Amino acid sequence: MEKNKLNKLIESASNAYKNAHAPYSKFNVGASLIDENGNIYNGCNVENAAYPSGSCAEEQAIGNMIVNGGKIIKEILIIGKSDELLTPCGACRQRIREFCDETTKIHICHISNGLQKSFTIGTLLPYSFGPENL
Ligand SMILES: [Zn+2]
Repeated sequence: MEKNKLNKLIESASNAYKNAHAPYSKFNVGASLIDENGNIYNGCNVENAAYPSGSCAEEQAIGNMIVNGGKIIKEILIIGKSDELLTPCGACRQRIREFCDETTKIHICHISNGLQKSFTIGTLLPYSFGPENL
């Protein structure tokens, strides 16, 4: 990915990160993705007092893409301040899988240190179940 696009995604995800609703965990997460038309969509985690009703940043970003007519995730970037790599949870790996292909890049970033590592879905969710399995 060209540096300009990556920086745009980092900036976008960082803004989403700042708006996260995480009063319980205090663990903000931001996500930004770019679709097949070059449009960027954001998401942040949205916690809820009824804990299981909360949602992940990736989930929100994907929902925003879908509601605006996007179909394919070309790149997705997740940002937070974890000391460990902030890879998507299992459910979000499956959510990403639904709208990506084997070339889609999944970038993991630290809010202060920038890009840490990039993955493909084949690495994060090997032998996955997807639309072609039906
Ligand atoms: Zn998740």
